[in-house]
Amino acid sequence: MATIIGGIGTSHVPTIGLAYDRKRQDDPAWAPLFEGYKPVARWLAEKKPDVLVFFYNDHANSFFFDCYPTFAIGVSPEFDMADEGAGRRPLPNIAGNARLAEHVANRLVNEEFDMATFQDRPLDHGCNSPLALMWPHEPGWPGAILPIAINVLQHPLPTAARCYKLGQAVRRAIESFPEDLKVVVVGTGGLSHQIHGERTGFNDTDWDETFLSLFVDRPQELNALTHADLIRRGGAESAEVIMWMAMRGALTDKIRCVHQNHYLATTTNMAVAVYEQEEEGGTTAQPHLAQSNPQLRGVEDIPGTYAFDIAHSVKALHLNRFFWRHREPTFRALVAADLEAAFAQSRLTDEERDLVRRKDWLGLVRYGVSFFVLEKFARVQKMSNLQVYASMRGESLEDFLATRRVPASA
Ligand code: FE
Repeated sequence: MATIIGGIGTSHVPTIGLAYDRKRQDDPAWAPLFEGYKPVARWLAEKKPDVLVFFYNDHANSFFFDCYPTFAIGVSPEFDMADEGAGRRPLPNIAGNARLAEHVANRLVNEEFDMATFQDRPLDHGCNSPLALMWPHEPGWPGAILPIAINVLQHPLPTAARCYKLGQAVRRAIESFPEDLKVVVVGTGGLSHQIHGERTGFNDTDWDETFLSLFVDRPQELNALTHADLIRRGGAESAEVIMWMAMRGALTDKIRCVHQNHYLATTTNMAVAVYEQEEEGGTTAQPHLAQSNPQLRGVEDIPGTYAFDIAHSVKALHLNRFFWRHREPTFRALVAADLEAAFAQSRLTDEERDLVRRKDWLGLVRYGVSFFVLEKFARVQKMSNLQVYASMRGESLEDFLATRRVPASA
């Protein structure tokens, strides 16, 4: 069974990453910040977690306001680092744990946290600015990440209490995962800062001390605060401490702080803290759940039916995207004119290319293609959905239509 072995709260200011990349660790102005991360790195080296669950937010780097999720869980087997306008940071990609991510997503949705899922989107400084200070990463990272993005940019944000409950549900999900994994939960953001408007530069380190104290002993008082309360006390962008509350919810009721540091270098009181639990087993564990999505229990007994789930979506991402791109006039013209050239743009495996070349509609669905992208390919191939349906049933179009009430010309 997977277990949560502790928690980390940390700021995620991009300047931490910039200063790190420029090797400013010993610069007197930066040293107090970097010194504060050394005990965290030692703690992680000693505890050796397999996975870090990161409650973080994306800063309009991988997600945009055309579709901005409240809660989104990353289910990819690997994550790239975002280019935030000044080039990609010189950090290696980091592994995900796709099986754990799918399990946690299934469990959260079954607990009525209706998570968005994301794949193939890079992680921005919400993850990577503290990550590089805490975990060695040359030539590679020592474990995997499970990123859970929380909207803190566009109101309405989820409440602090909702984030806390999300953390509790994440704990239950992790504790019902059958593989032996050691997991550390990380909440990022804050502490006090404001970086827009005339109030830019606002800080209140006394409030930050109060926050850090209540966080350990009386988190429910923090959960009761509105976003306006947090903005008034800590500055507008400090409301992102709701991501710390998700981390707090994933820990046991009683915790102890084993390391804490904060340092106001420029505009943010940059904090880092490590929390251990009073009792390892936890207070919110549920019995082991043999199947992570009980809504689909028994679906495998329904003949000729293939539920499109996260595992298939991860496996067939590039193939689904190949078909999805048929919404682009230039791409579908390329597919029609030169299928092999379209493949060259699409990162498809040999098996996937073969399924496409043969227009094996049933094989594609069985492989993990969603019908709702597949039908776009059918349009380019000058096939109707009715012809595709007949093919999947192993029938001629005429035989299939004979089973329908509407005549073939309809
Ligand atoms: Fe932020």
